[in-house]
Amino acid sequence: MYSIAIHGGAGTILKSQLTADMEKAYSGSLFAALQAGERILKEGGAALDAVTAAVKLLEDDPLFNAGKGSVFTFNEKHEMDASIMNGANRACGAVAGVSNVKNPVLLARMVMEQTEHVLLSGEGAEELAHEKGLVFEPDSYFFSEFRHRQWKQVHQSGTTSLDHLDEKKFGTVGAVALDDQGNLAAATSTGGMTNKKYNRIGDTPLIGSGTYANNETCAVSCTGHGEFFIRQVTAYDISCLMEYRGLSLSEACTLVVKNKLVELGGEGGVIAVDRKGNIEMVFNSEGMYRGRAGSNLPAEVAIYG
Ligand code: ASP
Repeated sequence: MYSIAIHGGAGTILKSQLTADMEKAYSGSLFAALQAGERILKEGGAALDAVTAAVKLLEDDPLFNAGKGSVFTFNEKHEMDASIMNGANRACGAVAGVSNVKNPVLLARMVMEQTEHVLLSGEGAEELAHEKGLVFEPDSYFFSEFRHRQWKQVHQSGTTSLDHLDEKKFGTVGAVALDDQGNLAAATSTGGMTNKKYNRIGDTPLIGSGTYANNETCAVSCTGHGEFFIRQVTAYDISCLMEYRGLSLSEACTLVVKNKLVELGGEGGVIAVDRKGNIEMVFNSEGMYRGRAGSNLPAEVAIYG
């Protein structure tokens, strides 16, 4: 038995704001990522490989705020964060504030599997990527008119914004999976917040806040206003509610996203899967780009609430 869920960010995503063509493009991209992950699970592959494959594909897609589609920082650059966790042994790896690395999720996995560390940042993380021969791309690869226009608007207003100024969307990507062997895994990747300053780092590379996986409980990947997810230690909180209070995955996700995060003022959502293969995709925003599939569940993607 296997299960997989993916997200491409949560936020104020309204049907009135997406043209039919855009909706089709988003759905197509979500399907492709979901299928890339599911294919691996169907063939008996590892949850870790499935979440890596799904997130890598979303990083290569300009529609989402991760990898190629990453937003601009205050200094008109791209600084990306990513993390990955293996629920079987709770090994994990993460990178923060890396530039020009084509697939930050692959670098996070490299940190997990090929170093004795968990979290590397900036130039040091890039040095590892160089040493291990990961693909780098020039600034032009990460440039898009759309993101640049978005950045200009926010930059002129002197604020920081999550992905889209007008639609307030968090375009971070993530995946969670359970494989045939009963192993859980989670991965998350982001460009962070538009116009972010001072090397700001969000919840995405922080194990426990944006990503968590434990075979005894669940695997979680978050998207939303990172500062609140850090304060709430959101992903680990869901796991803890299952471990210490015996809540179901659904109860834990609902309590954390619909109650605890809302009380704090944090907008966003989570995708999660438990050891029995149950999938939850819960958000307190208007919508969340998302998809799920399983051995007993046909693949489906959704955008709105
Ligand atoms: N959580 C991410 C961050 O705060 C943003 C997102 O989910 O889009 O960096």
